[in-house]
Amino acid sequence: MPLLGAAAWSDGGTLTEQLAHRGVSRRDFLEFCGSLAVVLGLGRDAAAQVAQGLESPQRPPVIWIQLQECTGCVESVLRSAEPTIGDLVLDMVSLEYSHTIMAASGHAAEKALADSMAKHKGKYILLVTGSVPLAEDGIYLTIGGRTAKVILEEAAAGAAAVIAVGACAHFGSVQAARPNPTGAVGVGDIIKDKPVVNIAGCPPIADVVTATVAHFLTFGRLPSVDADGRPLFAYGARIHDQCPRRANFDAGQYVEVFDDEAARKGWCLYKVGCKGPATFSPCPIFQWNSGTSWPIGAGHPCIGCTERNFWDTMTPFYGRLPDVGGFGIEQRVDLIGAALAIGATAGVAAHAVATGVHQHRERQRQRQLPIAGQGPGEPPASPPSNPTGGA
Ligand code: SF4
Ligand code: SF4
Repeated sequence: MPLLGAAAWSDGGTLTEQLAHRGVSRRDFLEFCGSLAVVLGLGRDAAAQVAQGLESPQRPPVIWIQLQECTGCVESVLRSAEPTIGDLVLDMVSLEYSHTIMAASGHAAEKALADSMAKHKGKYILLVTGSVPLAEDGIYLTIGGRTAKVILEEAAAGAAAVIAVGACAHFGSVQAARPNPTGAVGVGDIIKDKPVVNIAGCPPIADVVTATVAHFLTFGRLPSVDADGRPLFAYGARIHDQCPRRANFDAGQYVEVFDDEAARKGWCLYKVGCKGPATFSPCPIFQWNSGTSWPIGAGHPCIGCTERNFWDTMTPFYGRLPDVGGFGIEQRVDLIGAALAIGATAGVAAHAVATGVHQHRERQRQRQLPIAGQGPGEPPASPPSNPTGGA
């Protein structure tokens, strides 16, 4: 029995009809499809193709299993103060099983899962949140007497696509942090016979889940991914390269402590621990809470939550990264920027310098020359000062 959208969805109805029922016009829907096509890296010309894919009269069945986790990812994806069309698209899938929000419990819930998997075998999208504890034969998480590993393997066997949502499903997250007492691993460590897409983040951004599902509905396959299984359309760029504080980084304008004047001016958070230079994430573009803001926008450093093993590799969270790739050019700019910062026109001048650096970098790229600190065989570049120091 579908869990979401049941009241609004009539048999044979299209998504467009259902959205209209909820007050979303066709024009708004097509505008959304155009934005989605751009987000997916397809360009606006693919809007019609995306719309056609989403308008399928079939409600795509989705089974959502939750393993070892805190339910934060479910909250991130399902709760929204102001539902967007993307939320509604996700709402319109036929969510057949999700033990957090379904009314059934106990044997009835287990039967619902078994029935859904049998009825939609080979067709359903499997969403997974949570890690899989393997230590001591998986006793740290059993549901209905079965271990998380058994539940996952059974559910994945009949799935058309497997999407691991959140850091726990990606690599185990905080449960897998040293010393990892439960032996937690991610979905991709268990499911090897079919591709697993990792929607990374702790929690992930709901729009990335929506876009990934929409991609599957449109093209019948999951989106292209990076070496860690993350969709390239969302995780293809570093936060550092999309950050509005980048000009300050290049200019050597840093927040030293959280309540200093630089913090009030919105300068770079690198010295108070920002992991943006080592983090691939769509946060600066998608943002949070219906695009209201994002952590760096609110003045907090990125802790690198979309990166594998970030609890071990990105800590201490308020200590600076010991090495920032590509820092060679910026290091020189840092010195220039630090000197310029003395003057009243530092901000404008620094921005001009930073622009020059970016132009220089672009020229280097065009000539296919290695950027200082990034070239083959070059030693890693160093941060501007106090390389081993904390925040
Ligand atoms: S270090 Fe962080 S705050 Fe500074 S420019 Fe990079 S991503 Fe932005
Ligand atoms: S800014 Fe960084 S730590 Fe914060 S949510 Fe985005 S990727 Fe995760």
